This record gives sequence, C-alpha cells and structure tokens, in this order.
Amino acid sequence: MRTVEEHQQVVAGLISTRPAVAVPLADALGLALAEDVVAPLSLPGFDNSAMDGYAVLAADVATASADNPVKLPVAEDIPAGRTDLLTLAPGTAHRIMTGAMLPAGATAVVQVEATDGATDVVSIYSAVPEGRSIRRAGEDVTAGMTVLPAGEVLSPAALGLAAALGLAELKVIPRQRVLVLSTGTELVKPGTPLQPGQIYESNAVMLAAALRDAGADVTTAPATSDDVALFRETLAGHARDVDLIVTTGGVSAGAYEVVKDALSREVEFVKVAMQPGMPQGAGTVNGTPIITLPGNPVSALVSFEVFIRPPLRAAMGLPSERPRRSATLTEKLTSPAGKRQFRRGVLGTDEQVSSYGPPASHHLRWLATANCLLDIGEDVIELAAGSPVPVWDLS
Ligand code: AMP
Ligand code: MG
Repeated sequence: MRTVEEHQQVVAGLISTRPAVAVPLADALGLALAEDVVAPLSLPGFDNSAMDGYAVLAADVATASADNPVKLPVAEDIPAGRTDLLTLAPGTAHRIMTGAMLPAGATAVVQVEATDGATDVVSIYSAVPEGRSIRRAGEDVTAGMTVLPAGEVLSPAALGLAAALGLAELKVIPRQRVLVLSTGTELVKPGTPLQPGQIYESNAVMLAAALRDAGADVTTAPATSDDVALFRETLAGHARDVDLIVTTGGVSAGAYEVVKDALSREVEFVKVAMQPGMPQGAGTVNGTPIITLPGNPVSALVSFEVFIRPPLRAAMGLPSERPRRSATLTEKLTSPAGKRQFRRGVLGTDEQVSSYGPPASHHLRWLATANCLLDIGEDVIELAAGSPVPVWDLS
C-alpha cells in the first residue's frame, strides 16, 4: 500500500502550470499575476480638485470670513472631464467639480460649502491654506513603479487599480482545464425518474463545483455506464484541450470496474493507506494526466481534497493548502490501524472540534454540512476526548 504522501507526490508530478496568457481584466479575478505590473502612468494623472468648489489663489482669500467674505468673479466653470487647458487669473475664481483638472496658477480649492455657490461673483466665507483640496499628480502612483508583484492573486481592488492605470489585460497564470467523468451503470441524471436499483449521479456535480471553487475551468462529460467501450469513447470524445481528467468510480476490487478495465495500460491503480479513499489511480491518457477517484461520494470528495486540490491550485499559483491547525476533540474517537483517516468534522469558534457522522464513505449528508476534516495519523487507533487533533479547515 502507498502512503498518502507517496500518492500525493505521484499526483503532483502529473499536474503542471500552463504558459502565462494575457486576459481581459473581467476574466482575471482570482488568478495569479504572471509578471509584475509596472505603472505606465501616474495616479492621479494630473492635479485635480478633491472637492466641489472654487479654484482660487489662496492669497486672494486670505482675509475671507463669514462676516467679511471675499468676492471673486467666476471666470470659468470646470466640470470633471473638461479637457482644455485653463489658467486662473489672480483676483478671479473658477467654479470646479471633484476630479476636474486644476487650472494653472490655482493654489487651493475652497469647497462649495464655504461659499454662496454663485456662478457670476462668488462670496467666499473662509480662508484656505495653499494646497487645500488639491489632489497632486502622482501622489498615489508614480509612473514606472511596480504596483502589483508577480504572483499576486488578483482581487477586485487590484483589478480596479489595473483599470485605473489604463491596462485592458493582465498576464496571468491561466486556469487549469479539467474534465470530469463519472461512471456507473446504476447512475441516473438528477431530475429524471429512478428505477429500482438505480441512484442519482452526484459525484460529477460535486467534483465540478469543487474544481471550480479551486479555480479550475471544468467540463463535465455525460456519465457512462460500466461499459469499457462506451467509457473509452466518452473519454476520447471529451478529453481534448484539457489539462487534467478526473474520473470517479470503477477502480476498486470488484467486477465491472470499468475505469480499471479500460485504462490498465495508461493508469497505475493502487491502494492508498487512507480512509476513505483507498482505491486510487493516476496516469496519463494520450498525454493528458488522469486521476481516477473512487466512486463513493465521500471518498471522491475527500480524495479530491487530499490529492488533487493542492497541486491543482499550486499549478495556478494560488495558495494550495487548506488552513490547518490543531483543535481540541470533544469526544473519544477510534481509528483503523495503518490508515490515515480523514473524518468529517465541525469546528467551533472555540477551536473545539467534533467528529461528524460515521466514517463510512457513502454518508454524504454529514459531509454536506461539515466544515473541516480531522486528519488522524496512520498509527493512531484511539484519541481521547480533549486531545489535540489536526484539522483541515474547509470553510
Ligand atoms: P464504485 O467505486 O464504482 O465501485 O462505486 C462505489 C459506490 O459509489 C457505489 O455504491 C456506487 O453506486 C457509488 N457511486 C459511484 N459513482 C457514483 C456517482 N457518480 N454518484 C453517486 N454515487 C456513485
Ligand atoms: Mg461503479
């Protein structure tokens, strides 16, 4: 039997980073930058008004007060977006709006609240120091500076900054493209009637969601029956332009193990010393890496967490590990000898953790509302209530 770490290494060795591509900003959220972003211009790009008000020479309004206003003729009206270059003559004011370019010669802006708001001759009720309510060119960003380093995971604010700098695209590490294919003659698509002995297919939608949540682009092939020819045909028909194939089912020790039967040359089928998720497979089909997960839903998702999610995210330049920490177990637990066990758990705000649901791998209900995995070592057969246990925080 392989250890979890050994199989993790095998899977990680199959997944590789795609070449960097330029993508429109709208498609870049959550992706890692492939190169530094160097500002092509300064921000603000020009001196502009921080307030709606009047551009003046501070010296012209030095004596202004509520009782003794200074009156200045309003020579220009400058809304934001006015593009002609203006000069303020001494002894005059320009009415100016927030974000509008400051006229040459102006040394301050008096905000409208400190005036009577007039458009012909304005009364100014308070003096202002030089520089008041002026946003200076370059005070946020200087052209030529690195504003975002390579590797940064793009947030909404980072995209806003890129747009403010006039960049339409960013060079990023692209998403991994993953094909999901589930197998099982008993599987029926949700939304259609069920015959005795059939069950609804649940792995594909679950894994596709987990993959998307991890940052991948996902295609889902129609589930196949346990027919080797149909499985191979479906795989061949859908595995173009993908970086990774993930299958579920058909890899354990019974008969009708369709994935095992179909891919005996391409995939190495192994047992991993873990619970759930013992039967695993990894290999390459026509140059595309393939990971064959077991069919039990809990095994499939836990296997995804343990083997696929970390290297897949690493290949996209994203933080790859779930946050891990030690929590205090609220009850006694037993665990099989020689197997690393991943139990579903509920982690409280007080760092207490309760195991949640039975260990068997078909109990999807508990998995659906668990928020962590308890990571119980191979050698551990019993954990007393109150003992520390490592947890993977899935929230
Ligand atoms: P297998 O690994 O194909 O032997 O399947 C193990 C168990 O998981 C069986 O009870 C299957 O019915 C169930 N199973 C396999 N694939 C799926 C699936 N895609 N959706 C729901 N249950 C599945
Ligand atoms: Mg099956």
